Amino acid sequence: MGRLQGKIALITGGARGLGEAMGRAMAAEGAAVALTDLLEEEGTRVAADLTEQGHKAMFLQQDVTDEARWDAVVAEVSDRFGGLNVLVNNAGIAAVGAIDEASFADWRRTQAVNLDSVFLGCRAGVRYMKDQGGGSIINISSIEGIVGNAVLAAYNASKGGVRLLTKSAAVRCAEAGFGVRVNSIHPGFVMTAMVSEGFADAPPEMADQVIAMTPMKRFGTPEEIAAGAVFLASEESAFMTGSELVIDGGVIAQ
Ligand code: NAD
Repeated sequence: MGRLQGKIALITGGARGLGEAMGRAMAAEGAAVALTDLLEEEGTRVAADLTEQGHKAMFLQQDVTDEARWDAVVAEVSDRFGGLNVLVNNAGIAAVGAIDEASFADWRRTQAVNLDSVFLGCRAGVRYMKDQGGGSIINISSIEGIVGNAVLAAYNASKGGVRLLTKSAAVRCAEAGFGVRVNSIHPGFVMTAMVSEGFADAPPEMADQVIAMTPMKRFGTPEEIAAGAVFLASEESAFMTGSELVIDGGVIAQ
């Protein structure tokens, strides 16, 4: 039997990259999976592929910054699959800019997509799950939510916010007896579209520099991040809440 048999998972930003990998890994462990994203064509394709493989999967278009859409998405998933046990707040964007160069517009957009969305998602998830016997919420932060990077001022701030919001929600849910666990994952560098697009504007030696500063001397894979999400979604992590799972090949251990 799969480690997530009978669970229903909602993953934002699930059309590609880490979200797609988490959707595939959770489906392989027996979860029914709802993927949401702005990218309708890609998300529909991933959900159809999972359904063809015999899994329960669906795609819903969602802008995670849209407050009203959150309640509708949770209701649609619950109607279709009969509940919601796992929520992964994964959708995010990366804006490159040092503090002396970054625009206020980029700052605000980054906080909206990376941090406001996690507030809205956690609130909708907790409100739903506390009345349904509990659940697991997983917020995708970054190693950039723990240590500073000279050219990622807005991104650092947004991911640091996700890290502490996770702990606040975790303590609230535990003390109130909601049965909802809330944890964060902090990936290191994984070559998804987000990273390759960021590197496209960066000096060519950037990828080599990332590998050089990684003790394991390689990028991570989406599947290695997804494995952490499966663990936090499952009962194997039943005593974990408010914790931060770093999956980064050792970058911030040094
Ligand atoms: P990605 O760009 O491949 O995937 C992000 C997805 O989020 C895309 O499908 C995109 O359409 C979606 N998205 C963006 N804005 C949205 C919005 N407003 N509403 C709904 N969906 C939206 O990037 P990824 O690398 O898979 O990133 C996933 C998460 O992991 C992000 O939160 C990112 O910050 C985080 N992360 C990535 C890395 C890495 O190295 N790839 C490292 C640390 C953290």
